[in-house]
Amino acid sequence: MSNPKMKIIDLTHPLVPSNVFSCPGHPAYTADRTMNLAKGDLANVHTLTIGTHTGTHIDAPYHFFENGIKVDELDLSLLTAAPAILVDVRSKRAHEVITWEDLAPYVGRMKSGVAVLLCTGWSKYWGQSNYTDHPYLDGEASKKMVDLGVKVVGIDAMSPDEVDPKKGACIDVHNVVLGNGGVIVENLNRLEEIIESGIQLEDLVVSLLPLRLTSLDGSPVRAVAWESSR
Ligand SMILES: [Zn+2]
Repeated sequence: MSNPKMKIIDLTHPLVPSNVFSCPGHPAYTADRTMNLAKGDLANVHTLTIGTHTGTHIDAPYHFFENGIKVDELDLSLLTAAPAILVDVRSKRAHEVITWEDLAPYVGRMKSGVAVLLCTGWSKYWGQSNYTDHPYLDGEASKKMVDLGVKVVGIDAMSPDEVDPKKGACIDVHNVVLGNGGVIVENLNRLEEIIESGIQLEDLVVSLLPLRLTSLDGSPVRAVAWESSR
């Protein structure tokens, strides 16, 4: 059941019970069998326990802003076959800041309707204790992107903001992006595969579609990328 003309790169972490990182205070992911064919039930059915920020997911403005747009109100045209800029910052180390200078080579393509994906290479640490030590985006740099019209920012780490237990929660980038009606996609997986695949990066498009969860703050997404045919 595959389309031979199209190579899809899956940018989503698999959801495996007991192997899904969740932020402190967020629910653990579970999948329990409710109906079982092998035991004579009509079908196989599972019951999920899942947070709105479980696994690869999207933050809607309402996540941090009481009057912000909810996840079911997002403009799907920004999240469906959206032209994407892959920013290669794999040279960054743990807790190193991603600055406006790092984004400068890509600035010419930054505009409304474009998704900016930060490739830190950090998704390989998913499930490990250093997963939260990822590089992070400078708040001022995110402001400049937003000023250029960017509404969709993704990263292959748990947050575009720094996660440092000693400094407390930093939400500069969240405030800028979500505060301007944009969205953040977190826990993307293997963005580096886009580079390794040999895709023409100028033709990169992504879909990052949330569930239609009425009035909620976020949703797991199935994130995929491919090369658009011109
Ligand atoms: Zn989130």
